[in-house]
Amino acid sequence: MAWGLAGLGGSTVGSMGWAGSGTSVTLPLAQTGLTGRIVVIGGGMAGTTVAKYLRLWGGTGVQVTLVETEAHYTSHIMSNLVLNGSRDVASLRYTHDRIVSAYGVKRQRGTVKRINTATQRVILTDGTRLPYDRVIVAPGVQFDEAYGLTQADYATRTPHAWRAGAQTTLLRQQIAAMKPGDVFVMTIPKAPYRCPPGPYERACLVADHLKRRLGAAARVVVLDANATIQAEPENFHRAFTQIHAGVIDYRTDVTDVQIDPLTRRVSWTELSGDTVDLQAAVINPIPPHRATGSEPGDWLAQAGVINSSDGRWAVVDVLNYESTAVPRVHIIGDAAQCGLPKAGHVANQEAKICADAVLRALGQRAPDPAPVANSACYSPITANTASWLTAVYQYDPVTRSMKVAADNGSTLTGRAIEAAQINSANFRQMQGWFTALMGDTFA
Ligand SMILES: Cc1cc2nc3c(=O)[nH]c(=O)nc-3n(C[C@H](O)[C@H](O)[C@H](O)COP(=O)(O)OP(=O)(O)OC[C@H]3O[C@@H](n4cnc5c(N)ncnc54)[C@H](O)[C@@H]3O)c2cc1C
Repeated sequence: MAWGLAGLGGSTVGSMGWAGSGTSVTLPLAQTGLTGRIVVIGGGMAGTTVAKYLRLWGGTGVQVTLVETEAHYTSHIMSNLVLNGSRDVASLRYTHDRIVSAYGVKRQRGTVKRINTATQRVILTDGTRLPYDRVIVAPGVQFDEAYGLTQADYATRTPHAWRAGAQTTLLRQQIAAMKPGDVFVMTIPKAPYRCPPGPYERACLVADHLKRRLGAAARVVVLDANATIQAEPENFHRAFTQIHAGVIDYRTDVTDVQIDPLTRRVSWTELSGDTVDLQAAVINPIPPHRATGSEPGDWLAQAGVINSSDGRWAVVDVLNYESTAVPRVHIIGDAAQCGLPKAGHVANQEAKICADAVLRALGQRAPDPAPVANSACYSPITANTASWLTAVYQYDPVTRSMKVAADNGSTLTGRAIEAAQINSANFRQMQGWFTALMGDTFA
């Protein structure tokens, strides 16, 4: 099959003799004349997309190695639907098989422990060394030990479930065991955090589920460290005050949250200065997060790219996603500070802008001076209705940043657009959007 494609100008990994993959390419990749060794760290939404598009657009001469710790990827997107039993975690699993077999990406299972930017090598915990011309870092986020809790507490008693997997299943089980009169308490960290609408969506889905199961006795307390709802404010305000009125108790500007994982008592300070103490049945603390590996002394911090003012994120040039501190190191997805929201759809967009810029760099060309990215996000409000949010971001050369374009594209100061209604048609469209996004990323 692969050899037969030669007449179409295609090639194969095998025909190139590129060692390591052991798979044949089933798509006719171009021969663009570009050559280079790119190492991608992290096979999530951002890393998988960039690996695929580097090969698709860069062709056979661009060697792409994707380093990923896990054997498969579990989508965080849609994982809130596990909590009401609509999905299970297994339904959120994706593999990298297709980007290996169809695009000739070399998969390297392992965990990065260092990037040596002087010798341009990525070093894995098993000692493997991967030389690079450019490295693209997409490791997502890690979570602080906050509210008096440890990582072991998150894993066994008070799951944050802000990375989909075993904690999502544990939280689902805890919700399923709730009885009339029980209280569900969740926290939202100060922005920026992963998926701005995600916590509000979760509050709605849990409230809807508890109402159906427990009736009026259901109660969901949301402790938001922020002063306002961070995404889709109109629709979530409607959801909290009308659709889930009397069930969701939404509190803003909350500080000093303390959680006892054994007794499940929660205390916090309100904006007024009052301290509140509450007995919860289930606690879902979403802790503050930071780029994976960004703690002082950890691998990404050691690479010198963690340079946001709060010391948590890697600041990048939004024309090519190159670190503003270290050349030839690009950061995409949730780990980057680039002015765009930390979201999977956005990670996919950043990956494409980055892939294009890296390929141009391999050809000694400047990046596209006017990149455009779009963001779309659907938020289930009940088990069968949803809202959505969309925005188009354009490059503003004056501030050298990405800004939301107004509805008619006339200015760069517009606001993201929310769905006019929360309804079942949106819920149905959401499934199509998700399938398309994951297909564009993993297939
Ligand atoms: C509940 C929830 C709902 C969400 N809903 C939406 C939504 O509706 N729409 C949307 O757009 N976004 C949504 N998001 C956000 C979205 O999931 C993230 O923004 C997106 O996954 C970020 O992509 P990423 O590639 O940066 O990180 P990830 O997708 O987390 O991938 C990072 C990868 O890097 C790997 N890795 C980390 N460190 C190393 C290392 N040292 N070596 C090797 N590999 C490593 C990890 O194993 C992981 O596979 C949601 C998130 C949550 C939690």
